[in-house]
Amino acid sequence: MPFCPTLRVALPVPLPQTFDYLPPAGRPAATADDVGRRIRVPFGNRELVGVVEGTGATDAPATLRAALEWCDGQPLLGGELLASLRWLARYAHAPLGEVLATALPAPLRRGEPLPETQDWAWTLTEAGHLGRDRLRAGTRPQRLAELLATGAVAETLLPSHLDGWREACRALLKRGFVQRVAIAAGAVPAHPLAGPVPNPQQQTAIDALTGADGFQPFLLDGVTGSGKTEVYLQAIAHCLAQGRQALVLVPEIGLTPQMLARFRARLGIPVQALHSGLNDGERARVWAAAARGEARVVVGTRSAVFTPLPQAGLLIVDEEHDGSYKQQDGIRYHARDFALVRGKALGVPVVLGSATPSLESLHNARAGRYTHLRLQQRAGDARPPAVRVFDVRKRPLQDGLSPDVLAGIAQHLQAGNQVLVFKNRRGYAPVLLCHDCGWTAPCTRCSTPLHATPMTVHAGGRRLQCHHCGARAPVPLACPDCGSLALQPQGIGTERLEERLLQLFPEHPVLRIDRGTTARRDALAQTLATLGEAPGILVGTQILAKGHDLPRLTLVVVVGIDEGLFSADFRASEKLAQQLIQVAGRAGRADRPGEVWLQTHHPDNALLHTLVNGGYHAFADAELAQRESAGFPPFAHLALLRAEAKQVEHANAFLAAVRQAIPATTAVEHYGPMPAPMPRRAGFQRTQLLLSAPQRRALHGLLDALLPQVYPLPQARRVRWSLDVDPVDLY
Ligand code: ADP
Ligand code: ZN
Ligand code: ZN
Repeated sequence: MPFCPTLRVALPVPLPQTFDYLPPAGRPAATADDVGRRIRVPFGNRELVGVVEGTGATDAPATLRAALEWCDGQPLLGGELLASLRWLARYAHAPLGEVLATALPAPLRRGEPLPETQDWAWTLTEAGHLGRDRLRAGTRPQRLAELLATGAVAETLLPSHLDGWREACRALLKRGFVQRVAIAAGAVPAHPLAGPVPNPQQQTAIDALTGADGFQPFLLDGVTGSGKTEVYLQAIAHCLAQGRQALVLVPEIGLTPQMLARFRARLGIPVQALHSGLNDGERARVWAAAARGEARVVVGTRSAVFTPLPQAGLLIVDEEHDGSYKQQDGIRYHARDFALVRGKALGVPVVLGSATPSLESLHNARAGRYTHLRLQQRAGDARPPAVRVFDVRKRPLQDGLSPDVLAGIAQHLQAGNQVLVFKNRRGYAPVLLCHDCGWTAPCTRCSTPLHATPMTVHAGGRRLQCHHCGARAPVPLACPDCGSLALQPQGIGTERLEERLLQLFPEHPVLRIDRGTTARRDALAQTLATLGEAPGILVGTQILAKGHDLPRLTLVVVVGIDEGLFSADFRASEKLAQQLIQVAGRAGRADRPGEVWLQTHHPDNALLHTLVNGGYHAFADAELAQRESAGFPPFAHLALLRAEAKQVEHANAFLAAVRQAIPATTAVEHYGPMPAPMPRRAGFQRTQLLLSAPQRRALHGLLDALLPQVYPLPQARRVRWSLDVDPVDLY
């Protein structure tokens, strides 16, 4: 029996292996050039689109099915990107086919061709040049013909030249006077605007980045407003001058129209944005433009880390500490970490920037693995804000605000300034409490007999909503347990703060800014625009992102940090410290010094002390020391195996079977099965098994051995399970 060539295809199915197929009819050979091409194959009684991952041979072709058809002539995923994604599949211990599907925009995942990326323009034909004099003067077709007589005009620019250009164009097209021609995307460069002269620390950073030869990781550690974005812009300009592409990752809330406008104006070329607000077709177009090398600068959120960069020169991860870089379902990758992997494979520098670097990155910088660049002053003349801690114990609070704080707000408003009241809790109040029996309104889909997940009071106290599963319910008229009418919203959310501030400061605008009010990307800018330069109050959660200059903001009041001081999550204090520093950074720019006031019932808390008196780096030192002694990341490496099922016995049985398969000799410690910190969510019971090892290698060695045994477990069929390597939160 002769050997028959086969294709090894990675398919988007939750199975660990790849699948062998015979090449499609009509082209029996399979070559190394096929690797990275998409192909349509039969799978069970379905058809799937997969990616050829390798080639092989078989002496029993009758046992294999033939692939149906190629989707690509050339490999779609080649070289570095495919290699990096293979690495990711191994690291996440996830099926390669699912990783590839995660990396591709939806239309490409479905097998659609790589979209066209050129722009279109209209020109006059020969007949048009000859015949345009015969058009009646002053009509739209005549005016359009006159415009096009000077040369091709891009379709995107035509509306600004002529209202109703489409009808005019159609009329000319009927006469054969015009034609549509393709032009290279973004063929209309503008003059880049000059930026400010860098200060010495910025210059040192710029020199380091532009002088990097090949892969080099940098931590650009600069206080808020120290001019990190200026450093990025200069490094990108240098990269463009070398004819290379740059990729900039930003957190979901950081990618604002203002930020894109700043990039476009300063670089003088189109900047492609990739974010969750785009439709599938737009995403695929940006992906394709990058793959063809046409997109020179791509600015995007988490999944933009999968952008192909055939001429890569620089990767930037702004606000690298931000939690939105971690994908929390499906393939649980971390975009910052994957950017480093890609930078290494591409041989280009990678910049991680933040005013509050993650403890992981600080640890790497201190160990010499990253070049540590620091910007310690605010750019221009802006001075850092003064921070004060207010002890509110035994002070009468009005919806959580102490008299001193209210007086301070009044003072800043009188001076014509703006005030931000920061509260990291959406809604009106966290819980609805019965004053007579202590009942609190639970989410029935997320609670267990032992663990009640409260619903949050919204809509000024009329509606209950669960922030975990989205369930909604009206507020009951009476307590379901004791019948009392004494139901009271407890605790304070942004909605309730807004209501109270409106009462107290009726002559000033009060704007609430949180995920509830700014679901759309430009809504925040519009809301801020209504405030303008006038004195007023902003009430917000951490959604108040950078990218919006608030030069009139002189006072930031932080209320309700106490919940964050006492959380079970080992990352809670890091997150709290980052939030405090970030929100404090919003106060005081340029000519107006800012103040930050923290209200707390725990003025002696060690974390607050260190943070307020020593700053973020002193906090980070203390926190790293604590993590080291407790054996938490970055001094340990974690993986979390989660299982959920309608019946908790099924979830536990699955994890118990996994635990059984762990060899007794391993250096990896395991904890569980135990209930997840949120043991029920949307009707599913959730349990987990935590694996922890001092060395990354030990953890991955165990997972390599373990996972092939987990997939076929009979208990696996009764649960939804997932593996999260380097989990960011343990929920
Ligand atoms: P970051 O990204 O660190 O928050 P930005 O780069 O946005 O800081 O800079 C903050 C502000 O300071 C911006 O308005 C920017 O134009 C200005 N700025 C940055 N660098 C300089 C400089 N060297 N001289 C004067 N102004 C600067
Ligand atoms: Zn009651
Ligand atoms: Zn719920």
